[in-house]
Amino acid sequence: MELSSRRDAAVRAVVARRLLTDDHPLVALLDLRAVEEAARALHAAFGAVLAPGGRPVLHAFAVKAASLVPVLRLLNGLGLGCEVAGPGELALARAAGVAPGRIVLDSPAKTPSELREALALGIALNADNPQELARLDDLLATRPAPPGPVGLRINPQLGGGSIDAMSTATVTSKFGVPLQDPGARAWILAAFRDRPWLTRLHCHVGSQGMALERMAAGVRVTYELAEEINAAAGRRQVDTLDIGGGLPVNFASDAVTPSFADYARLLRDAVPGLFDGRYGLVTEFGRALLAKAGTIVARVEYTKSAGGRPIAVTHAGAQVAVRTVFVPESWPLRVAVYDAEGRPGTGPRVRQDVAGPCCFAGDLVARDRPLPRLAPGDLVALLDTGAYYFSTPFGYNALPRPGVYGCADDGAGGSAFSTLRRPQTTAELIAEYGGPPAGKGGYP
Ligand SMILES: *Cc1c(COP(=O)(O)O)cnc(C)c1O
Repeated sequence: MELSSRRDAAVRAVVARRLLTDDHPLVALLDLRAVEEAARALHAAFGAVLAPGGRPVLHAFAVKAASLVPVLRLLNGLGLGCEVAGPGELALARAAGVAPGRIVLDSPAKTPSELREALALGIALNADNPQELARLDDLLATRPAPPGPVGLRINPQLGGGSIDAMSTATVTSKFGVPLQDPGARAWILAAFRDRPWLTRLHCHVGSQGMALERMAAGVRVTYELAEEINAAAGRRQVDTLDIGGGLPVNFASDAVTPSFADYARLLRDAVPGLFDGRYGLVTEFGRALLAKAGTIVARVEYTKSAGGRPIAVTHAGAQVAVRTVFVPESWPLRVAVYDAEGRPGTGPRVRQDVAGPCCFAGDLVARDRPLPRLAPGDLVALLDTGAYYFSTPFGYNALPRPGVYGCADDGAGGSAFSTLRRPQTTAELIAEYGGPPAGKGGYP
């Protein structure tokens, strides 16, 4: 079954199992086969361009894209590690059973305790700036060499993509050491010369909205810097390149474009030395692995009309689609319509707004969108929401976190669900907002 047919079957099953209730009129689904296929496609794409006998690539999933322990466990089982940016994500990766040697720590604001913990566990870390390197000098003064690899993040300063907030390689980006600033290259060469334990270079040029050519150019600049460092050292001091993530996702159809294979081939052409086996490689893809597997399904509560514009008031808004609501021009989502039984909506298309439940006027997930006319009890589905949507909630109006369910083929043309995150209970919600913990004189 194609992804779209599996999605339709899953929405039918959501209705049949009564997963949508008054308490939880919103659920999130993750198509487990799509996740598996994406992971396999990633392994195959890099496998195809790597020199035979080359070192295996560590594909570290960017945890922020889907920070749910069962998802990390699933990906770990599919041969992926984790890229984490802070103690919370590190704890999630460890709770998922990901081995320290398959975790990379990249936060720009690592505290001394985080650095100490990463060093103690042998987790690879990429220092962001000169002050962080100085901290590492102090922490390492008492031991001979860090047990895990330590790298330095550079910003190739190649410019941004179509979404400013996703562009990490602008001239003034907050990430990494700005390579083209006066004196920076010489400083980096000296930093490596003085620290034999510094063995990696890291770059992540940007996320959604970045042209593949610019991403590849960032990797090329990183590779060339590694060659220069190694030539100066007279040995292969930089032994691994961490080339970041950022493959953009097509939010306009079910087609996977660009593919991991497209990007791997482009990298091979732009930076042939990357794959000749001399360097270990780390990647940090997030969105491209999970986005297309995810669907948010919400009930339409009411429909109305204002100033001639039909409006469907649903339960999916900023609490699960924060970027789409606040920056709609950069993060448009496809909306699919189903009837109350979960059958795909038919009927003539009418321009309408699809609103969320939050109490502010901008809480719309689609504006003036031609869709079959919605009625109360119908369902709307927000497609391609497997990364950075339900797993990155926005706390507003004390709306509870929706349940997240993995869906698989049940072998009889239907869907089998597994719980990836239970829907948040009112007692948990009260505790989260400063009330007494559940069962301790709080809400029963
Ligand atoms: C966010 C991030 C990623 C993942 O980006 P995607 O666009 O989800 O692939 C990888 N590396 C770093 C350092 C990041 O900040």
